[in-house]
Amino acid sequence: MKTFAYQRATSVDDAVQAVSADTDALYLAGGTNLVDLMKLGVRRPRALVDISHLPLDHVIHRADGSAVIGATATNAVVAGDRDIRRNFPVLSESILAGASGQLRNSATMAGNLLQKTRCAYFQDVSKPCNKRVPGTGCPARTGAHRDLGILGVSSSCIATHPSDMAVALSILDAVVHIRGVAGERAVALQDFYVPPGKTPDQDTIVQHGELITGMELPALPAGAVSRHHKVRDRWSYAFAVVSAAAAVVLEDDGRIAQARIAWGGVAPRPWRASIAEAELRGQKPSKQLFERAMRAELRHATPLPQNAFKVDLVADVTGALLTDLIRSAEDRRVTR
Ligand code: SF4
Repeated sequence: MKTFAYQRATSVDDAVQAVSADTDALYLAGGTNLVDLMKLGVRRPRALVDISHLPLDHVIHRADGSAVIGATATNAVVAGDRDIRRNFPVLSESILAGASGQLRNSATMAGNLLQKTRCAYFQDVSKPCNKRVPGTGCPARTGAHRDLGILGVSSSCIATHPSDMAVALSILDAVVHIRGVAGERAVALQDFYVPPGKTPDQDTIVQHGELITGMELPALPAGAVSRHHKVRDRWSYAFAVVSAAAAVVLEDDGRIAQARIAWGGVAPRPWRASIAEAELRGQKPSKQLFERAMRAELRHATPLPQNAFKVDLVADVTGALLTDLIRSAEDRRVTR
């Protein structure tokens, strides 16, 4: 591993100043992805600015049902928080579906959002990769791409985003708070990730020196039920082959007032299935409706030979998830 300088930040402003002043400096919090990438030689910072001791580990619940979560709150703390489990079960479930207990004890909320793709070529510095070294090519297209993307990919990169948690945050309409030398800004999670296009090295809208300070979760609508489901190659400690998060609200007559759906393991970002959501709105739930909505969303999928199975898999997983959620929403209406 390349030798690097280490500095413990004493305040958010101190951290932002330190990283902004050095183009080769990075923030360090849980380190569960960054340190691995440094060992592999993928990330080679000159300096790390440790933010893990800053007062950014809060989980605050407001009276209106919304929540504010600090950037360095650990995944374990958030997943186990009693009010997160009650108000945002999909978030708790998605976090618990990711990584291992030890990793969740270290990994932070901001780090989870910013983690890098697990595309094998990205992690192997002996191979070309447009995301790691722009302009070198994408060997995954003709090589191993079974785990890579089918939606929102480009000719430059077909990587998937690895976070399960971000899939849940997508349907929760989370807003990310970011501090830079010029001040603070708030960005909807929907606008947080950058499509790969011709510049797949830029994963998010976060600029060098900017620090995520936390995120805000608006309350789900009254009567909403939410859940996360993940398909993986083994029961524990594996990235999603595909995953789905959904929230559903029913009208009094049983029609779908609102359905929110996001997918993981299929795109360079949590994929909000807004076309499917529009197909479902105002309709009586049925297996045929779910199938039609999924196919409408997947019409623009561009699978390659090894990952073409994901098209049917994500449609089936989401159909089953919606069936479960409708049943839960109906039960909730009966017991209200
Ligand atoms: Fe690199 Fe993206 Fe191609 Fe993987 S899919 S090799 S990350 S450019």
